[in-house]
Amino acid sequence: MEREFSQLNPGYRLLLGPGPVETSPRVLRAMSANLLGHLDHQFLDIMNDTMELLRKVFQTKNRLTLPMSGTGSAGMETVMVNLIEPGDNVIVCVKGVFGQRMRDVAERCGANVYSVEVPFGQPIDPADVRKTAKEVGDIKLIAVVHAETSTGVLQPLPELSEIAKEYDALFVVDAVTSLGGVELKVDDWGIDACYSGTQKALSCPPGLSPVTISSKAEKVIAERKTKVQSWYLDLSMIQNYWGQERVYHHTAPINMIYGLREALQIVLEEGLEARFKRHQQNSDAFVKGIEAMGLSMIAPIGYRLPTLNAVRIPENVDDLKARNYLLDKYGIEIGGGLGDFKGKAWRIGFMGESSRRNNVILLLAALADAMAVQGHRVDVGAAVEAALEVYNG
Ligand SMILES: *Cc1c(COP(=O)(O)O)cnc(C)c1O
Repeated sequence: MEREFSQLNPGYRLLLGPGPVETSPRVLRAMSANLLGHLDHQFLDIMNDTMELLRKVFQTKNRLTLPMSGTGSAGMETVMVNLIEPGDNVIVCVKGVFGQRMRDVAERCGANVYSVEVPFGQPIDPADVRKTAKEVGDIKLIAVVHAETSTGVLQPLPELSEIAKEYDALFVVDAVTSLGGVELKVDDWGIDACYSGTQKALSCPPGLSPVTISSKAEKVIAERKTKVQSWYLDLSMIQNYWGQERVYHHTAPINMIYGLREALQIVLEEGLEARFKRHQQNSDAFVKGIEAMGLSMIAPIGYRLPTLNAVRIPENVDDLKARNYLLDKYGIEIGGGLGDFKGKAWRIGFMGESSRRNNVILLLAALADAMAVQGHRVDVGAAVEAALEVYNG
């Protein structure tokens, strides 16, 4: 018997996890616009717009700034496969799952990887990186995750950039959960290669990975002795499609690029500074509410990521039960812990469209309910009051 398929109709969800997050109807509408061919001059104009908008959001003048086809991890692989040749010494800073992924990718490229590690939940100490750099000496690149989505730790970058400069190494930054939500100055901070993802603070569905490459890093790519082992991610070919030559490489995901272009425009209409401030305020309010409930944040003060808020789960509360309760009773999705924090942390994203006062207040109340049904009672009134104080003073 033929199985009958019903019409696709995903139920309503409020996405407050580590991504994907809420997206603007403007982005969804842009994505449903007429399909064009990938070499149509109308589409080439849209590609040019997208590159120009990306430069503004990355705060860079880098020529080689474009969205790679694929999610954030594709951006990570793009940067690593293009910059690393077998036998290169690289330093990878590991403070969570995404640092571990960077290390894995670098190893697969045949690099000699030296990792600078701290326990999950802590920031990297630049002194440790300097020590390792001194020991290794000849270093191709230093890589670090700006916003570690597995722990909610925000890594300050300028000092690490200085160390890279001292050793004439390229400075590589994962900005998947920071671009568009947290201050990130690619040029001013001396970042040579940076990548992000669309479904985090840019508030777009998943599918593209914005990448920017400095002229210094471009030169390193041009002078490679070996071919990039990935045909699909080889920037020397991809730039011939995004540049003047318009040589076909692979078919661009046209409608995804419509969506990204619209999302970037929304970011710039709000203004970067205003957007960063909004993310900070909503995170501050949420943290105050969480603390008023007697719960605590994973990341130490001064290193807390406003886009991704990692909360320690009380010992007597079951992680999965609580998250399923939020999903069933409220239609709210939040993230569970990753790696060392599996079952021990909730990862709450207030990014892009999701970073709103109503979501903060709603989630505080919903979390209190989800814990109360497991016998862990908290003062929800005090939590809401503490959060409102951040907004109303
Ligand atoms: C989400 C994320 C990635 C991976 O992105 P995907 O879109 O899931 O491939 C990489 N790094 C960080 C810091 C992330 O948060």
